[in-house]
Amino acid sequence: MTATLASCKRDFPILGREVHGHPLVYLDSAATAQKPRAVLEAVRRYYEQSNANVHRSVHTLADEATALYEGARQKVAAFIGAERPEEVVFTRGTTEGLNFVARGWAARHLKPGDEVVTSPMEHHSNLIPWQQVCRQTGARLRFIELSPDGTIDLQSAARVIGPKTRLVALSALSNVLGTINPIAAIAEMAHAVGAVMVVDGAQSVPHQVTRVQELGADFLAFSGHKMCGPTGIGVLWGRMERLEEMDPILYGGEMIAYVSRDAATWAAVPAKFEGGTPNIAGAVGLGAAVDYLTAIGMEAIEAHDRRLGELAYRRLASVPGVTVYGPPAPRGGLVAFNLAGIHPHDVAQVFDAHGVAIRAGHHCCQPLMQWLDVGSTARASFYLYNDESDIDRLVEAVEATKRYFGQ
Ligand code: PLP
Repeated sequence: MTATLASCKRDFPILGREVHGHPLVYLDSAATAQKPRAVLEAVRRYYEQSNANVHRSVHTLADEATALYEGARQKVAAFIGAERPEEVVFTRGTTEGLNFVARGWAARHLKPGDEVVTSPMEHHSNLIPWQQVCRQTGARLRFIELSPDGTIDLQSAARVIGPKTRLVALSALSNVLGTINPIAAIAEMAHAVGAVMVVDGAQSVPHQVTRVQELGADFLAFSGHKMCGPTGIGVLWGRMERLEEMDPILYGGEMIAYVSRDAATWAAVPAKFEGGTPNIAGAVGLGAAVDYLTAIGMEAIEAHDRRLGELAYRRLASVPGVTVYGPPAPRGGLVAFNLAGIHPHDVAQVFDAHGVAIRAGHHCCQPLMQWLDVGSTARASFYLYNDESDIDRLVEAVEATKRYFGQ
């Protein structure tokens, strides 16, 4: 394993392949990140050497599997600065974590007249759970408006967050605008009125140093697959008091303390939320991803990704006919853009013919598309294995697309 940013690309076998005769330039890490050999090997080693169910049997393999699974929890806790590993609940990903909070915490605590506050830039997974729980409980969903550059309007936040607010849900980094949101400031407003702060960390945890205490959050959800780990594993971190006052969502094996014919009591956190056989290999892979990112250094990764995002924004903005979205800087390592008169899906298809993988669509952010007044956008997103030469290829692909469409 190499442990520097400059040489890390060779740790990712997939980045050595070609697409349509061109060396692959992978600019879709906001959708899912590629996996370094260390993660692939950790998962393979787990299945080859230690595969067994966790927290159940007493044989050697079961002990090893349990130690690996709980070891991964400890690694994740240290990675985000959690006070205790028990505050880390393994989930399938960000979507599941946010749904757990909506169904386990909000459904239990909201009553008619209460307010839930979010923003128009949220991914559907940080919007629909709140729409649904408001509908079920009679609470009202309110929005912090955005400034014209796609940043959170703090004055709007101060107006909207008030005595009726019970929960504020906000992403730390927008998957479309690249906006880095002022979570600590919003959390302070939320706590001042006694509300709970829920943070969607899907795009921030993989790309920024995360210390949950400084963030001021009560809950933080993120996905392993966007931070070099496997798919199907994610994390819901919560303050212990908040997790304890939450109902479980999945009822069944291993989440109980005692069961009789008619009733059951729950195991302590986090087992209370991990009913059924968990994604053990996924957790092991996520632990390896955390080790890998930590060895490279999250501070260096954060600076690198921001630099690429800001550079790509400037370079794309300087191409005639290209519209870029969100603030120029500071921004995270992704840029959404459109080419005048060319559908983003066509853009992505021409890019693919040149070996450049980007995403096109509404990015699971339809209300944000409405705010931007577009149907969809193209999006290039960067990670530790990208460099400036990938931005050159991005700009070349833009020029090629324009030529292809006769512009
Ligand atoms: N929130 C944001 C900001 C995202 O970008 C994503 C995924 O793209 C999600 C939530 C959902 O993540 P997952 O699909 O891994 O549950």
